[in-house]
Amino acid sequence: MLPVFARVDVAFERGEGPWLISTNGDRYLDFTSGVAVNALGHAHPHLVAALQEQAAKLWHVSNLFRIPEGERLAARLCEASFADVVFFCNSGAEAMEACIKMARKYQAANGKPERYRLITFEGAFHGRTLATLAAGGQQKYLEGFGPVVEGFDQVPLGDLEATKKAIGPHTAGIIIEPWQGEGGVRAADPSFFRALRQLCDEHGLVLVFDEVQTGMGRVGSLFAHERTGVTPDIMALAKALGGGFPMGACLATSAAAVGMTPGTHGSTFGGNLLASAAGNATLDVMLAPGFFDHVQRMSLFMKQKLAAIVDRYPDVVSGVRGDGLLIGLKAVVPAADLGVALRDEKLLTVGAGENVVRLLPPLIVTEAEIEDAVARVERACAKFAQPAAVRGAAQ
Ligand SMILES: *Cc1c(COP(=O)(O)O)cnc(C)c1O
Repeated sequence: MLPVFARVDVAFERGEGPWLISTNGDRYLDFTSGVAVNALGHAHPHLVAALQEQAAKLWHVSNLFRIPEGERLAARLCEASFADVVFFCNSGAEAMEACIKMARKYQAANGKPERYRLITFEGAFHGRTLATLAAGGQQKYLEGFGPVVEGFDQVPLGDLEATKKAIGPHTAGIIIEPWQGEGGVRAADPSFFRALRQLCDEHGLVLVFDEVQTGMGRVGSLFAHERTGVTPDIMALAKALGGGFPMGACLATSAAAVGMTPGTHGSTFGGNLLASAAGNATLDVMLAPGFFDHVQRMSLFMKQKLAAIVDRYPDVVSGVRGDGLLIGLKAVVPAADLGVALRDEKLLTVGAGENVVRLLPPLIVTEAEIEDAVARVERACAKFAQPAAVRGAAQ
């Protein structure tokens, strides 16, 4: 395989809820959830049954034909959100590409083709295609890949004055993540989101939310923006949308989608029958009464437990951030080293910007499993807290 990932030398053969069992039989508590993908844990019986049933009937037909399961999923997503229409694709970057194209097309369809630029925020991550990399603006990812796709203006997160200044005659819209996941589990204040909504309305811009990571229940509501009280015009989903089956979506109001007529966009695989079955099965579980209450209760429980660890090991970790079960543990020691120590305790986590370790348990995690995980965090922290000489001897 192309060595673009620095892979850890562990492989898994089975999963059960929040547990992963490696090929050599070790049991790991999986607080990566495939980077916010396996929101219902591994081998969830409802998802397994739905995919098995669909797999025996029909996997894929072209988007030249109607796909009733996809229509049903789109209708349910619209019913549960601000959106009127949905475009299905296969990944987060593709969902964001669709959002970017739609934002530009909206302006063109309204007689303003010169408005094609999009304002984005420092620390953002929107994907690895050429346009989404340009939107994210991270030098380390753009390096060596030729001219950067034109049309993105980046400003500091939460800086309203800089945002206002960046708006010009060529601006089409604003793209923001409700929480920056890759960027270090950080978010602007809700008042900033309200100000962005107002700016967009005043200037005829579209507001695009990248909810690829925050959407589908991760922060304790189906979509994170529900918690800010601000509604976008266009939104990208992916990661947890198919519960582990590759799937992305671009949701929009009919006004924002006005230019997206037959032939303007497409995808061969997007929203095929297997993906749609996975998406519907995921929604069945998430929309059942009490699901988000559970996520919020587990969030509070885990944050309280982690705060106690921060109190006990201030030289190792300095704070807990995030919402729902998108939780960041700000490290004092190098976050990568802490991640390795956690893995030694058989707890899997994900790194993030700003020296943060991300904890992304499946949303079906229980109190007992959180207690187990926090005990592992404590043991890992204790290793760093030992005097250097003892630590050296133990290695
Ligand atoms: C993961 C992620 C993406 C990219 O998704 P892929 O499926 O890897 O293309 C885009 N935006 C955000 C906020 C993400 O977290």
